[in-house]
Amino acid sequence: MKNNKQFAVIGLGRFGTSVATALYKLGYEVLAIDSDEERVQKFSDEVTHVVQADTTDENSLKALGIRNFDVVVVAIGEDIQANTLTTLLLKDLGVKYIVAKARNELHGKMLSKIGADRIVYPERDMGLRVAHNLVSTNVLEYIELSPDLSIVEVTAPKSLVGQSLAEANLRVKYEVNVVAIKRGEEVIVPPLPDEKIKTGDILICVGQTKGIQKLEEME
Ligand code: ADP
Repeated sequence: MKNNKQFAVIGLGRFGTSVATALYKLGYEVLAIDSDEERVQKFSDEVTHVVQADTTDENSLKALGIRNFDVVVVAIGEDIQANTLTTLLLKDLGVKYIVAKARNELHGKMLSKIGADRIVYPERDMGLRVAHNLVSTNVLEYIELSPDLSIVEVTAPKSLVGQSLAEANLRVKYEVNVVAIKRGEEVIVPPLPDEKIKTGDILICVGQTKGIQKLEEME
């Protein structure tokens, strides 16, 4: 089934390519834009449309009818100036929802001041995830919501197996809330306090980063 939402992705580097392809596979219409003719050629069969354009040129953006897209993703990586200027022009042209890739915190701040609706830090986030996974083999997924708050997906530590959530008492011990349990195909949301943790359960937890770290270190 085709979905009506229309996306444009600017910059076909590793990140942009991956976002554009994933959206297209999900059934969305995707316009991919890059200033590099070779990249455009290579990508021509992967999404709905691919065009060659320099998005730091306002007239090019206008000619593409960029305003009509529901979401525009600025995935230009290396060139901070092109990334920032593109975001600024998109905002000026009245694009409804702009997602911009930031290289670092300062760049992110700037993008946010310009009015990007969502800032993503793919390298930082992936680095964090890999680090958490290296520290503890229980960690399957790690997302930082803010510097103090994170979500983690962990395989239930052996020491918790057989205990109910109330007995495990993670909320009091670590200020960590178990918001869902994945057990094979089944997902238990929200789990009740008397739910017993079984071997192989995956716990999805939200909490203060400090507490989450304690949970990750449990065996
Ligand atoms: P990544 O780090 O995700 O691989 P890159 O910085 O390597 O990202 O790639 C960004 C892409 O954005 C490149 O393909 C480049 O040609 C494209 N790009 C850079 N500047 C512009 C611009 N002004 N207009 C359109 N595309 C651009």
